[in-house]
Formats: sequence, C-alpha cells, structure tokens
Amino acid sequence: MESEIYQREYTRDFVARWDKLIGWQGRARSEGGFFEDLLNQHNCRRVADIATGTGFHAIMLADQGYEVTASDGVKAMVDKTQENARQMNVGLKDAQVADWRELDKVFAPNSFDAILCLGNAFTHLFDEDDRKTALTAIRNVLAPNGIAIIDHRNYDKILDQGYDSKHQYYYVGSGVEVRPVNIQDDMVRFKYEYEDGNSFYLTLFPLRQNYMTNLMEEAGFASVTNYGDFRKRFDPADVDFLQVVGRKPRH
Ligand code: SAM
Repeated sequence: MESEIYQREYTRDFVARWDKLIGWQGRARSEGGFFEDLLNQHNCRRVADIATGTGFHAIMLADQGYEVTASDGVKAMVDKTQENARQMNVGLKDAQVADWRELDKVFAPNSFDAILCLGNAFTHLFDEDDRKTALTAIRNVLAPNGIAIIDHRNYDKILDQGYDSKHQYYYVGSGVEVRPVNIQDDMVRFKYEYEDGNSFYLTLFPLRQNYMTNLMEEAGFASVTNYGDFRKRFDPADVDFLQVVGRKPRH
C-alpha cells in the first residue's frame, strides 16, 4: 500500500458528496467548540488546516476571526473549499494544494501558530518514513510554541474489539452509510455508501494511540496529549475518535 492512494480515492464525484457525509451543522454542534478552546488556550491566531477537505474547519474558524490558510493534497478539495468559502462569504488568508510531506516547501518556516489535520486524515499515509517526513514538515512551518492537532478514528478499538460507532461526532450527515469492509493490522478499508446506490472507498493505515504519541514525540513535539471524543478524561475502549495535540518547543 502506498501513501499516494488518497489521490485516486478522492474522485471529483466523492469530493462533491463529502459535505453530505459530514453534515456541517451537526458536526459543529457535536464538537462543541473544542478546537476553538484549544486554539485560544494556546493563543493561536494564524491557523493552517492542512487537510481542509471541503473546508469545514477552515471556514468555521475564519468566520470566527482566526487568520486561516487552507490546504490539501487534492486539488478538487481545495477548489471545493474555496467555493464553499465564497458561498458563505468567508475570507480565507490563503488556499493551496500541498502534500503534507512537502508542506515546508509550500509554506515558510514559523508561518503558523496552529496546524490542524482533522477528520481521520493523517491515517492516509501508509509509509512510516512518510509519516515522519510529514510531521517534520508540520513542525517546520509551526512557530515556536505552536501546536499541531491531529485526529483519527480510535483504531485500537477497531483492531482489538471490532468496529462500531456511535455516529455522534464526525460523520453526522444523512443519506450515507459508513462501515469498514476490511480490517487488518496494517490496513483498514472503509466503504461510503450513498442512498442513490453509489459507493466510494478509502484505504487507511490504522494508527494506534501509543504509536502516534511516540511518533509525535520522536518528531520533536512536546507535551503530547490525547483526548477522546473531545474529552480529556475518556475510556480508550469506548470513544470513537482520538484527538492528539503536540506543541513545538520554544527552543
Ligand atoms: N478535514 C476534512 C474533514 O474532516 O472533513 C477532510 C478529511 S478527509 C478524511 C482527509 C483529507 O486529507 C482529504 O481531503 C485528503 O485529500 C487529504 N490528504 C490525504 N493525504 C494527504 C497528504 N499526503 N497530503 C495532503 N493532504 C492529504
């Protein structure tokens, strides 16, 4: 499995249907301001959403006054983010096509106070060297004391207990069913089935919680903290999603 597979899986048709899957209003309600609270605690103003998808977080945060740059490796996603921002009359600082492994070639060092990589995105990288390269590039474009926030499905639960989901937090849109069709230690394949009969697939690497924490620490992030379904105290055997936060040290 290679890290480029995401380029083929996010077809224009799937991108056009992404907003139906995520359900903007329900998702904002379920997050309950978690990301804004984190950004404010760390005095973050310049924010980059590097897995912008169709722009849900980028647009919501720009609308609240943060200076937001949106990027994604898939051009159709960046185009859709810009279209959504225009329709909602929200101004983004910048929007770029950028693969995470080359983030520091697209953006200057110390450009951002916070980097967001949300919605089970980082799990698209299949090669460990690619994960390390991406985390180093993320660290490079963060300002000292800046934070990286990465979230993904609770793969420990999926691998150890099998899949179930409360469908409370992330994919709260209607008219689409999401479920894994293949679960292996090194690959999980999700099917997204829409009510008109069309189906799409995403092939993902199951990141375990301890592995991801170690990877962040090895890449030079400090105070790496895990949250579960947006709560600091959580039962790892129960939550659907994990949010990982790491800080770039001052020196
Ligand atoms: N954050 C959005 C959300 O929560 O709705 C989108 C999440 S979607 C599951 C993952 C996004 O990561 C896709 O838009 C995909 O194009 C992007 N992506 C995957 N691998 C990438 C890479 N190596 N570099 C940049 N973007 C990547």
